[in-house]
Amino acid sequence: MNAPESVVPALVAATVAPAASTDRPAPACEPAAFDPGLPLLPGFQALGDGFFARVAGTPLPDPHLALVNRSLADELGLAPEALAHPSMTAILAGNTPWPGADSIATVYSGHQFGAWAGRLGDGRALLLAQVRAPDGGAWEIQLKGAGKTPFSRMGDGRAVLRSSIREYLCSEAMHGLGIPTTRALALVTSDAPVLRETLETAAVVTRVAPTFVRFGHFEHFYWNRQHDALRRLADHVIDTGYPALRAEPNPYWSLLQAVSERTGALIAQWQSVGFCHGVMNTDNMSILGLTIDYGPFGFLDGFDPSHVCNHSDDQGRYAYSMQPGIGEWNCYCLGQALLPLIGEPADAERALAAYRPAFEARYRELMRAKLGLCSAAEGDAALADQLLAILEAGGVDFTAFFRALGQLRRADASGDAAARDLFIDRAAFDAWAVRYRERLAVEAIEDPIRQAAMNRVNPKFVLRNHLAEIAIRGARDASPPDFTEMHRLLEVLQHPFDEHPDHQTLAALPPDWAGSLSVSCSS
Ligand code: AMP
Ligand code: MG
Repeated sequence: MNAPESVVPALVAATVAPAASTDRPAPACEPAAFDPGLPLLPGFQALGDGFFARVAGTPLPDPHLALVNRSLADELGLAPEALAHPSMTAILAGNTPWPGADSIATVYSGHQFGAWAGRLGDGRALLLAQVRAPDGGAWEIQLKGAGKTPFSRMGDGRAVLRSSIREYLCSEAMHGLGIPTTRALALVTSDAPVLRETLETAAVVTRVAPTFVRFGHFEHFYWNRQHDALRRLADHVIDTGYPALRAEPNPYWSLLQAVSERTGALIAQWQSVGFCHGVMNTDNMSILGLTIDYGPFGFLDGFDPSHVCNHSDDQGRYAYSMQPGIGEWNCYCLGQALLPLIGEPADAERALAAYRPAFEARYRELMRAKLGLCSAAEGDAALADQLLAILEAGGVDFTAFFRALGQLRRADASGDAAARDLFIDRAAFDAWAVRYRERLAVEAIEDPIRQAAMNRVNPKFVLRNHLAEIAIRGARDASPPDFTEMHRLLEVLQHPFDEHPDHQTLAALPPDWAGSLSVSCSS
């Protein structure tokens, strides 16, 4: 699971020709009587012209506030009465602005599937406001699917209900797994038609994060030779997201190092739960090391390192096993973009060198925890890798296996069945279990203690594709949409390490029909 040696691009000292900047005159922001009651912060908007376009949402007909994330709303300091107010639905639909703030679409560029794609930007995302939560934390509030922006290119600025449900579910599932992510605050639905492969309906997800700044924001100003803007963006990110780096001799060098570390650690966490992002373009990489932009993601069912969750990814560039190397490749793109602030390519490479050890250390630590090992010993990496090899050979379910492994007993094979029966080739499991027991004997931790620890790191529930599909069908095929299944799923995904005895079916192996599901960039 090391990052492949040869995949990273070489840093070069030169830049390429810019694309033109395109901010459009902004619609005025109308004052509203309703007040959500959250202190506003200057946030990204303080960066001023050149970083975004002021743009109002395109009204969504007859919006319905279908879901709100109450615990997240509490964290933000958003009172239940404010959430329930009809004006709030209008705001979260993109129909009226956040009181006191102009909504903006930010400009960024990026590398898509390994090639420079030029200017992209928020084509269907609107940053409503940045607010201060009661605990002092700053949060950007963003709508996804609120209509066209100057960066929409050929797109309609909308998101369909299907993909909005997937984003909502998965961001909350990742949070439940303890993996850094943007969050979902609300889902607004409408009957408004949206054309994809078939006719679907529109929805708007409200998502929040300390910042939605991506690697691609930096690439944009670098490749357009706007080094002053590049520096201001870096200063903004350091001041708001990495304040401790201000004291460093070169805060920009330290920023690159910190982002490399966080990204490596993030992808180690993805690997440890079998999460495949699906579109790891540099415009989908968070500068804070958050999982961002849920599209054609997927969780592994049977362990298959070559699994490609995105139907549009013909080359398998973003296959599960490629993610660690791609994460590093993306950090190199960020390093290239930060060069004017850092100096020589060799300096940037020293910062980027933080990626691999951060990935490796976190990955190995997580694999040890998944195996219920408390201490590090020589041979642990080999033990984990041998296990992955037999899981791959047998196509054994990744999540179910690790959860079942906790039942194994150190002294005898009486607890092996749950894990062993997932193999057709039981001898392969037995041979590995001999080595595993030898290793457990060294630690001599009581079985119940080890099992409890394993159950805190090996989730019983992940957002398998077919589960998302059931929630989508439940909502989409009823009129009005029925979110019962989605609520049930959220309940377990927000606490995926608990047993939830009433929801066993959500931990079951995928049904046969799951094999025919495919997800693509179309959303
Ligand atoms: P993604 O593949 O979702 O990361 O999107 C890549 C770029 O395409 C971003 O600039 C998005 O804002 C833009 N985009 C994707 N879908 C749409 C859409 N339906 N309308 C407008 N822009 C879109
Ligand atoms: Mg994106």
